[in-house]
Amino acid sequence: MRPVQIKRDSAAKELRITWDDGLISVFPIKLLRDECPCAGCKGEVLFGKVYKPAPLSIFQEGMYELVSLTAVGQYAIQAVWKDGHDTGIYSWEYLRALDEAFKNTAPTTP
Ligand SMILES: [Zn+2]
Repeated sequence: MRPVQIKRDSAAKELRITWDDGLISVFPIKLLRDECPCAGCKGEVLFGKVYKPAPLSIFQEGMYELVSLTAVGQYAIQAVWKDGHDTGIYSWEYLRALDEAFKNTAPTTP
């Protein structure tokens, strides 16, 4: 599973990923920061146990402003945020899982 297109919509503050199976994921930029997968944000999990809990998140100026997205090899993208945070590496697997989790919790419209 890999993206065929990654498109950032600056006006809507969204990231759209078109996958090779045809699925289109739409991620609010804020969600990507809230769900930053790095150890500093999510804590460190070793052997299924939380080794280092994530610190309480405190709003930082610019934390929800995405500066850049860079490809990491063939398996992930790395996000750089305006507050200087750049350790979040979003693998394709993580983004797909995020897409599913996010859609599951979103309210359904009849
Ligand atoms: Zn992080």
